[in-house]
Amino acid sequence: MKALAVFPQDRRFGVIDHPEPALKSPHEVMIRMLEVGICGTDKEIVGFQYGEPPEGSNYLVLGHESLGEVVEMGSNVTHLKRGDLAVVTVRRPCGIPSCTACAAGRQDFCFTGDYTERGIMKRHGYMTEFVCEEARYVNPVPRALRDVAVLVEPLTIAEKGVEQLWEIQRRLPWAATDANGKPSGRGRNALVLGAGPVGILGTMKLILEGFETTVYSRVPPASDVSGLLRSIGARFVDAASTDVPTLAKQMGTIDMVYEATGVSSLAFQVMEYLGVNGAFVLTGVPGHKPPVGVDTDKLMRDRVLKNQVVFGTVNASVENFRNAISDIGAFAERWPRALGEIITHRVPLQDATEPLSGKIGGIKNVVAVAS
Ligand code: BGC
Repeated sequence: MKALAVFPQDRRFGVIDHPEPALKSPHEVMIRMLEVGICGTDKEIVGFQYGEPPEGSNYLVLGHESLGEVVEMGSNVTHLKRGDLAVVTVRRPCGIPSCTACAAGRQDFCFTGDYTERGIMKRHGYMTEFVCEEARYVNPVPRALRDVAVLVEPLTIAEKGVEQLWEIQRRLPWAATDANGKPSGRGRNALVLGAGPVGILGTMKLILEGFETTVYSRVPPASDVSGLLRSIGARFVDAASTDVPTLAKQMGTIDMVYEATGVSSLAFQVMEYLGVNGAFVLTGVPGHKPPVGVDTDKLMRDRVLKNQVVFGTVNASVENFRNAISDIGAFAERWPRALGEIITHRVPLQDATEPLSGKIGGIKNVVAVAS
């Protein structure tokens, strides 16, 4: 069958013939891939900056943002049936007995770093026609979400970020919960840095949680992206014409920041304006650049005197995937047009090298493996 693979040693990538998988246990599911999203991580992998083939293979099949259809199941699989749409998680446990996170099914918090990730780290991904996987990593998706469910995986980044945010802000029960004691951003200001897919989906999630949400981005203020953000009720601030101190003055108290740019200099500048008791979520992975100077006294003084928490978040749990599927449904009801507009281009597998090498612009480009 066809697959899109990268050969890091030969520094090339393209469509290859890849062996068809087969069910290896009664707990597995075979999935026919329909669509696979392309993200910054994939572009880094085809730029030979990141990622690793499985042991014993000289290539890695790309793709971790999946949407497929269940075509075959082992006899022990109960929560799926043939014809179900499904999204598969990305990370698999390290298997090292001392890793309590992996043992608890939370390999997104793996202690050892020996985890594998489909389409990224030592495990083939989803840009291929058929994939077999243990059923516990396969999440059913309502048929009505066929056109947008490829956005589930990038949304899981926000799902985990917000889950962690509420874990932390439980320390402020009088300020971060609604009348029923449920976590709520109502009456609070959130700032999203960046308006790529992770930033846009994070904005949707934060609005759903009740935050007044501002997006700070370099995309032109008259672009489709800023229009899309305004249409869902976010405030858009143009980073090219507004500096960070002005942004902070306009916003008033910044209760939380969701960073989705990977630009560390911007993140640390904005951190200076985080409000009292605020939380700052970092999701971007910057490339390696020469070090820059920062005022470490101020950084530490602010964290202490303002009770602030800065934390990073990576990957996501099965529960984050289930919540993302449900929230994509909520977004589809509330903002059907804006949600659909996040997907800019769909290209067949044989043309996927174009968007992967950055030759096609847009917000989220998707490889249509099958129709
Ligand atoms: C993926 C995550 C993964 C991370 C680091 C991201 O692009 O969405 O699942 O853990 O890259 O490899």
